[in-house]
Amino acid sequence: MTPARGSTSQMGADQEREYWRLLRAVDALGNRIPCRNPEYTADADWLSDDGTVAQQTAAVLCIGCPALFMCRKYSRTWAEAGGTWAAETSLDRRNLRALRRRGKPP
Ligand code: SF4
Repeated sequence: MTPARGSTSQMGADQEREYWRLLRAVDALGNRIPCRNPEYTADADWLSDDGTVAQQTAAVLCIGCPALFMCRKYSRTWAEAGGTWAAETSLDRRNLRALRRRGKPP
């Protein structure tokens, strides 16, 4: 999750409200948020969908994030397709959605 990700123009009103609520919470925590901390963003990539080591590194760094649960609630509620959110890569979330469709929630 990062404020730089995409545009809110495709979001409905409810999603956009939740997105900005998450961003305000993240902003309040500043550099304690790994995806906002320049110390980490050089080696980790929260924006790509390519399954690279940088994307996996981002997912691992999320584990220590104080906004992890809020971020996960948002990304799962609104089925964010791209990038790394709340320690889940885009591939992780696709796999979770496939499990749920088959009636096997994680
Ligand atoms: S859980 Fe990960 S993607 Fe979400 S705000 Fe924290 S560092 Fe960013």
